[in-house]
Amino acid sequence: MIAKTTKDQAIFPGHLGEPKNIKVSFAHFLEISFIEAERSADLIDRANESALLYNEFALETFRLERIAQAAHAYERAQKGMAGICEGCEKPIPSERLEWNPDATRCVKCQEEYEKIGRSRQV
Ligand SMILES: [Zn+2]
Repeated sequence: MIAKTTKDQAIFPGHLGEPKNIKVSFAHFLEISFIEAERSADLIDRANESALLYNEFALETFRLERIAQAAHAYERAQKGMAGICEGCEKPIPSERLEWNPDATRCVKCQEEYEKIGRSRQV
């Protein structure tokens, strides 16, 4: 951005439509730099806040999905369908149920279900 600096001047290239370079005092250059640094800090702060909010939102969404899935698994169990895949209607392998007791689909059907879900979101 700065084309040339001297002891007491910084020369900025002209902005669009300005054919000549702009000469500013070094003090003015420092003032501009300070303002730009503050703006950058604000941008970084806002980006960090956005990232934190997004993470909180993602965690809350995940938590709510887990609760909804647990309720869904409970409803299926009440209907006598515990451990039966709601995709292919075959028994869900016990290893999967040990790892995820709220699972209502076998791994293959779950992958298909998630693939369809993602394609609908696009
Ligand atoms: Zn299945």
